[in-house]
Amino acid sequence: MRLFLLLGGNLGNRVALLQQAQAQLAQAVGPVVQASGLYETAAWGVTEQPPYLNQVLEMHTTLPPLEILDRTQAIEQVLGRVRLERWGARPIDIDLLYYGDLVCQTDRLTLPHPLLHHRRFALVPLGQIAPDFVHPVLNKTNTQLLAECADEGAVNTFAP
Ligand code: ATP
Ligand code: CA
Ligand code: CA
Repeated sequence: MRLFLLLGGNLGNRVALLQQAQAQLAQAVGPVVQASGLYETAAWGVTEQPPYLNQVLEMHTTLPPLEILDRTQAIEQVLGRVRLERWGARPIDIDLLYYGDLVCQTDRLTLPHPLLHHRRFALVPLGQIAPDFVHPVLNKTNTQLLAECADEGAVNTFAP
């Protein structure tokens, strides 16, 4: 299955944490097919916090979605995430954006990610590696979603 994950963090060594998360994901979830560049982005929702580094990975996986959520949350814990407030600062956050064209809404998991189309920090890296992938609910490509997104948060290519 084609799986798209959004990685992000704004505490600690952000580049190293993204690299460690990717290495652990490759072990736990499946091979990385494509990786976007790194983007430095303004915090969204709770804006009084340091800027994030974000990256989108396309992975190939044979695991079911809830098993992936368990594993991504375990990796967040190992990399030092402590859940305090919603949208608060954190060393690493791993969100499932798309699991093929699966649509689901349960207590623990909504797919596609419900805020994806409202967030430039997700759509810009996603559009870089999968411009023509079609959102299975909105029936628009990532490129179209980005063009129509009203979010004005800063998203800049990051050169370490
Ligand atoms: P946001 O979801 O708005 O990006 P967040 O990433 O800061 O906020 P978390 O505290 O990381 O929120 O996650 C809250 C819960 O969201 C998780 O415990 C998980 O069960 C649920 N969740 C629902 N859909 C998804 C998804 N597509 N990817 C990751 N988590 C999800
Ligand atoms: Ca998130
Ligand atoms: Ca999350």
